[in-house]
Amino acid sequence: MTIKLEVERRKTFAIISHPDAGKTTLTEKLLMFGNLIRTAGTVKGKKTGKYATSDWMEIEKQRGISVTSSVMNFPYKDFKVNILDTPGHEDFSEDTYRTLTAVDSVVMIIDATKGIEAQTIKLFKVCKMRGIPIFTFINKMDREAREPLALLEQIEEVLDIETYPMNWPAGMGKRFLGIYDRYQNQFVKFNGNEKESYLADGELDNHPDLINDPTFQDMKEELSLLDEAGDQFSLDAVLSGDQTPVFFGSALAPFGVEVFFDTFIQMAPNPKPRKTTEGLIQPEKADFSGFIFKIQANMNPAHRDRVAFLRVCSGKFERGMTVKLTRSNKLIKLTQTQQFVASSRDTVDTAFPGDIIGIYDPGIYRIGDTLLEGKENFKYDELPQFPPELFKRVTAKNVMKSKQFKKGLEQLVQEGAIQLFTGYPMESHIIGAVGELQYQVFEHRMKHEYNVEVNLESIGERIPRWLELEKVDTQLFDDRNLLVKDRDGTFLVLFKNDFALRWFQDKHADIKLIDLYDVN
Ligand code: GDP
Repeated sequence: MTIKLEVERRKTFAIISHPDAGKTTLTEKLLMFGNLIRTAGTVKGKKTGKYATSDWMEIEKQRGISVTSSVMNFPYKDFKVNILDTPGHEDFSEDTYRTLTAVDSVVMIIDATKGIEAQTIKLFKVCKMRGIPIFTFINKMDREAREPLALLEQIEEVLDIETYPMNWPAGMGKRFLGIYDRYQNQFVKFNGNEKESYLADGELDNHPDLINDPTFQDMKEELSLLDEAGDQFSLDAVLSGDQTPVFFGSALAPFGVEVFFDTFIQMAPNPKPRKTTEGLIQPEKADFSGFIFKIQANMNPAHRDRVAFLRVCSGKFERGMTVKLTRSNKLIKLTQTQQFVASSRDTVDTAFPGDIIGIYDPGIYRIGDTLLEGKENFKYDELPQFPPELFKRVTAKNVMKSKQFKKGLEQLVQEGAIQLFTGYPMESHIIGAVGELQYQVFEHRMKHEYNVEVNLESIGERIPRWLELEKVDTQLFDDRNLLVKDRDGTFLVLFKNDFALRWFQDKHADIKLIDLYDVN
């Protein structure tokens, strides 16, 4: 098969959601469609000591192997699907954001009983900033949920994106009858524990009990309202990230999952040209190229090896091929490569644009590195700096170890494990993270790899805003509005809370405060 055909059948996406919205349950159903696992529930339930397939990190930590596989790939109909996991809970870290740089689209799951929750907002912002198309699955319609219209309104208001309901529910919870599929003009009937059934428009008259049900009639009324007053569907707007198609269903039943996935897979973009220092690189290009978006270090001191996650962007990858690391111009033979298939890691022999491969890393790669084949020399766009939310002051417990401390800090920052800020004018080391896990990893690795114990003093959640000033009046800042410099020497202020931010803005309207989400 030519590279072009391989590119056309690739769908690489991440699922984002707040914990408990149903990401694991949905992923599991998708894996079942792909025949990767046979029975649901085999991989569920933290309390029973079993873990979901996508929650590998925890299992691997327990087993003492911590190289996490967080990519699943499987064939579905004519397509080849790559799902990238975005860990939630305490595993939330900057890696979660970086993963989003390696996908072509995103599925956002919203719990219909709760509406939009904190972690969804954070992940959504990153998608929006990168213009990634977002498909929304509103889950748990088999429960007493919020009103569908209110849910759409909330998405539009809080996330600032247009919505287009691809289907519309008839009732919910105990009165849940099913959904009307506006895309294929059919009613998908909810049959409880039995498999859903599909009724084309023309067949509905044969089901008088259904169409005379007041819940069904309410749905019809709402549908005509939507047809008249709702937004028009636009695939262009979806692909540019300005509109999100919304699907209702239940991952657990499962109900509406197949309709959702079939529509999603048709609409979701396949790998597109990507920006480099030499302009756009087409995925169909014959020479292999890709970039590293994540490096997973082993937490087990007995195994120092690491795995670098590479997204293939062009050409064909073949195991054993020699590639160039453009940062250093070094040639490297890629022999130890893995592909991630659900519960196991297999050796990968070939891969195409959109695929994610794991490369054995003896410590030579950095996040954002470009690897390529051929004579050319270009680099994929640098990964953006994601604004951290948590900040801690860090010092070495033993001052005699300041040399190792500096070295460890420098290397871990360079690797992207954590972000470093420097207090100003009083120099101090402040490290920023998006999740608590990053501090645990940092502490652990400083101790085991650099032999330094560290003190971490929390300065709490902060709102970072960058300044466009070369010189600042340090008198304006204090502990509430903490002035620091980032890795490039740019000034920023860590505001204690929203109130402190607004107060400062009002008082110093002449000082421009930049939110990184708005500029990337
Ligand atoms: P995750 O944290 O996003 O991975 O969420 P899970 O997939 O683990 O689901 C959290 C809980 O919600 C579990 O108890 C699931 O059984 C339940 N759940 C998931 N989807 C549905 C659904 O469609 N309906 C109902 N009633 N419960 C669901």
